[in-house]
Amino acid sequence: YPPNKVRNFSIIAHIDHGKTTLSTKLLSYTGTLPKNIYGSGEDSLGLKEKNENRREQYLDKLQVEKERGITVKAQTCSMVYKHKEDGENYLLNLIDTPGHVDFNYEVSRSLMACQGALLVVDACQGVQAQTMANYYLALDSGLEVIPVINKIDLPTANVEMVKQQLKETFGFHPDDCVLVSAKTGLGIPDIFPAVVERVPPPTGDPKKPFKGLLFDSWFDRFRGVITLVNVLDGQVKKGDVIVSASSLQEYEVLDLGVMHPEQEPTGAIYTGQVGYITPGMKTTQEARVGDTFYKKDFPVEALAGFKPAKQMVFAGIYPVDSLDYQSLKEAFEKLMLTDSSVSMSREHSNALGQGFRCGFLGLLHMDVILQRLEQEYNQIVIATPPTVPYKVVLTNGKEKMVSNPAEYPDPEEIANTQEPMIVGHIVTPSEYYGAIVKLCMDSRGIQLNHEHLEGERAKLTFSLPLSEVVTDFFDNLKRISSGYASLDYEDDGYKEADVQKVKVLLNTEEVDSLSAIVHRSRAQRHGRLIVKKLKKIIDRQMFAVAIQAAIGNDVLARESISAMRKDVTAKCYGGDITRRRKLLDKQKEGKKRMKQMGCVELSQEGFLKLMKSG
Ligand code: GDP
Repeated sequence: YPPNKVRNFSIIAHIDHGKTTLSTKLLSYTGTLPKNIYGSGEDSLGLKEKNENRREQYLDKLQVEKERGITVKAQTCSMVYKHKEDGENYLLNLIDTPGHVDFNYEVSRSLMACQGALLVVDACQGVQAQTMANYYLALDSGLEVIPVINKIDLPTANVEMVKQQLKETFGFHPDDCVLVSAKTGLGIPDIFPAVVERVPPPTGDPKKPFKGLLFDSWFDRFRGVITLVNVLDGQVKKGDVIVSASSLQEYEVLDLGVMHPEQEPTGAIYTGQVGYITPGMKTTQEARVGDTFYKKDFPVEALAGFKPAKQMVFAGIYPVDSLDYQSLKEAFEKLMLTDSSVSMSREHSNALGQGFRCGFLGLLHMDVILQRLEQEYNQIVIATPPTVPYKVVLTNGKEKMVSNPAEYPDPEEIANTQEPMIVGHIVTPSEYYGAIVKLCMDSRGIQLNHEHLEGERAKLTFSLPLSEVVTDFFDNLKRISSGYASLDYEDDGYKEADVQKVKVLLNTEEVDSLSAIVHRSRAQRHGRLIVKKLKKIIDRQMFAVAIQAAIGNDVLARESISAMRKDVTAKCYGGDITRRRKLLDKQKEGKKRMKQMGCVELSQEGFLKLMKSG
């Protein structure tokens, strides 16, 4: 396929607007999915169970993704389409992008390999926050955007309203909207001519030396690292030796081809095409997204780099049973081969033992990783409450990044602390406007803008501390707007903040994993709450226990538990020795399920509960 017969495009949408269903439909329409994986009869069957549908959606590969119905890892697939107008075959490369705000980075890197995008909008819900965010990402990447209104089969579909929104918000002509139902297949055939005619072919020179853009990679258990590459100029063949422009490392091309939908070897890939290359790398860390590949002895100018994945949320992850440390470590190492956006370093806690401090793109990403650890690697872990990274300027002028509350310096050592900020865009039906403004203000937000949108809706723009957003902001937003408001955010640098470390002491000994970095206005409340919660879960001990929450030497809250001699055998009247032994054994067993925190023992269950509730 010469470049003028190739189209590279992606599908962008707000979550649940039907991106996955549409992708699957495009593949099955062009015969790219084998019939036994995705039966062609599902239309006539009408409504199927949601889960059943999900399972069949080929593009969502990982188990977690399937359960949550989100695409985490971008998947890419090529298909062949015969255009009615000129009778020619076209190679259409669909580059799948994740649909959640945590994964904006993956969206932007996938878009670099495209010339066009289908912007899918739900005919009932209309334009939402991520519709806008993704549209602007696509625009910034210079893509031709084709508006697609989906779910027109639904009785509540309001196509005219959505057309109007698309016109008002982005300036699309109503006639340019493609109307489809990804579910029933209605209108699907109209998508292909729109892609062929409106998306420009890739530019690039087949005669120039090979230049490839690495835009995605993953780890395959059998084949090692697989990279997805967009050939910008020239061509690359099996057996070629290619060089990474960023590391100058050389790799032999062990295998290459197109995704159709699984890897299909082709021997070579050509200008404008998107394909996979197996370069014999050891880890996905070597496959730097945004890197340029060229042929050995034919260096080319590297493309301007991508922004690297940025971890915004950190948490300590510990094995529930400290004996499982080694197996958790191995699980992490394997997991990181498949997801290079997680960061991990060793950490030790006096309460939890050996574990890891991990960085995630966002809270959903953290959830996905925890779930994968459990489902794919059988690891049962304790996660400390998540925190954002703080920038601390010390009185000696040095700067320190702190992503573990336990490492936060004492107040007298700190000149000032800065916290990460975001700009949040919230789209909501106008009736929830007031409640949302209040929520943002309560979350230390500053309003930057508000706009009235078509269809009794408003868009609010707020500057917010990231730490507020990663706690329960999103849940609250959904709750007060009955699920209608949507949020999208981008990173907005650091800003000075009046935060302090609130530490927890048990009989004056600090329990590091319970420390938290908290804004001054919340410190009192946080301190009181955690002390109360702890009191509830600590069993009476042989000695009195003082529970305190403090900033530096200032105690914010305290509770105490009086001493009790816990003599289980006291219940045994008489001298039945076997009964007595049994009880003692039982007590020993119970001990195993206890966590030692400082001088105090806690039941495992209580401790897990405490960690979950923060
Ligand atoms: P994604 O999050 O954008 O990938 O959305 P999905 O493709 O997973 O779709 C979200 C939900 O909408 C699923 O329950 C789909 O079955 C449903 N859906 C998708 N397209 C249509 C459509 O055209 N009509 C109807 N009625 N439902 C659809």
